[in-house]
Amino acid sequence: MSIPAPRPEPADTALAATPAGIEELRRLGAVTLDALAAGAAARGGPLPPGGPAAVARRVRRRCAPVLPDHGVGAEAALSTLVRTVTEGSADPADPACAGHLHCPPLALAVAAELAACALNPSLDSWDQAPAASALEEETTAALAALVYPGRTAPDALITSGGTESNLVALLLARERARRPQGPPVQVVCGANAHHSVHRAAWMLGLAPPVVVDCPDGRLGPDAVDRALADVPGPALVVATAGTTDAGLIDPLPELARVAAARRAELHVDAAYGGALLFSRRLAGRLDGLASAATVALDLHKLGWQPIAAGALAVADAATLAPLAVRADYLNAADDTDAGLPDLLGRSPRTSRRPDVLKVAVTLRALGRTGLGRLVEDCVDAAERLAGRIDAHPALRRRPGPCGISTVLFRPVAAAPDAAGDALVAEVRRRLLTEGRAVLGRSRAPDADGRVRLWLKATLLHPHVRGADLDRLLALVTDAVPAALRELAAQPGDAATGPAGRAHRPRPGAHR
Ligand SMILES: *Cc1c(COP(=O)(O)O)cnc(C)c1O
Repeated sequence: MSIPAPRPEPADTALAATPAGIEELRRLGAVTLDALAAGAAARGGPLPPGGPAAVARRVRRRCAPVLPDHGVGAEAALSTLVRTVTEGSADPADPACAGHLHCPPLALAVAAELAACALNPSLDSWDQAPAASALEEETTAALAALVYPGRTAPDALITSGGTESNLVALLLARERARRPQGPPVQVVCGANAHHSVHRAAWMLGLAPPVVVDCPDGRLGPDAVDRALADVPGPALVVATAGTTDAGLIDPLPELARVAAARRAELHVDAAYGGALLFSRRLAGRLDGLASAATVALDLHKLGWQPIAAGALAVADAATLAPLAVRADYLNAADDTDAGLPDLLGRSPRTSRRPDVLKVAVTLRALGRTGLGRLVEDCVDAAERLAGRIDAHPALRRRPGPCGISTVLFRPVAAAPDAAGDALVAEVRRRLLTEGRAVLGRSRAPDADGRVRLWLKATLLHPHVRGADLDRLLALVTDAVPAALRELAAQPGDAATGPAGRAHRPRPGAHR
């Protein structure tokens, strides 16, 4: 006879949205917040020092085994794991964490997320999400009206982000262009387009996109016109409003004109730049956006939402029809005939998180002007950073305008050759592994037209101050001497970079 396993403590299995669960959430919420505070204090900077091996070792030491035979209990597991993950996190709320389109979420949005998780509505059928689906309808209508003012029937889908938005946009374009025996739609995009555009074409069985060169980082209308002239069948031009590498906005009105003249459609990937629409001062930078058949937006970038918070706006709701699908258990015809909303056609996913709750709470709490102000603060911070770099004797900025809130620069000590690029890469890695700063990297042409490696600062921190910007630049210049010493000590030919290092598998790297 086997002994029955001990039951977990009743409190550890309380259900979140019950009265007992809400009390438990209050208690565990406090445990969680204490662990967040302790973990952040232990880290003490934007990133854990020591690099991947040190972080992985600490996680293993404290958190394994993750599936013990007998559990350690809610409080112990929460406090240890939350503290450990916090201590080992990249903190986008630290002004020196400016590498990616990785935003510090608003406390308000995170609070809404708690409720979303506790209620757990699933947006694939009305009977799992009565109010959440109604709120989603209101919210997507508001986002659609923001992108397509004055249009009679725009709509928007909530997505997991720019990648899914681009995938669905290409899918809808493929279906709109479908003709019996006709060629499939050909995607035409810039060399500056996000990699997810290429993956979407691949996943959808479309030909690889025709890639148009972008010597100045933006998609040129004349080059697109020439590319379209060579496409025999239907075409979709994918433009970018806010490139990931430089924050640049393609010339949307001109691209819309060229596309229309060639009877091609336009999709705009505004994952980064779409939030400029909130600012009346900056919205004009997106003129032409409403000419697009579809527009991708990401509120987990400029928008300050916890991931995920994407949207795909469509000019005409009728073009969403190809997403429709029947599953008797979710949207039986007699149910929809009787008036139950059919939600299944609003996403390629089935179970779907109520990401809309935090988005709606944020939009309503801050309003258009409040959000617009945060966007302006990031754009202004980037201009200030650019000005400081231009005035700095040891740094130089990539010539040309700065992106939405992206600034590319490198140390003056980096020579205009491969060794200089290696120095830029080493400075960035040094700042990462020492936990001092997170900067991105971007390859882009210099004044002489030659492509070089740049440090990329992506400013999504709306409360960054001048002193924070000065500190970030000081971290970079302070890292240069040690990076030069490190490179000099490495074997290998300086012209090809540190040989044998880039390709050696890194111990402790899991990805
Ligand atoms: C971030 C980004 C994406 C991808 O969005 P995810 O939300 O990460 O899926 C697509 N396009 C552009 C221009 C982006 O900046």
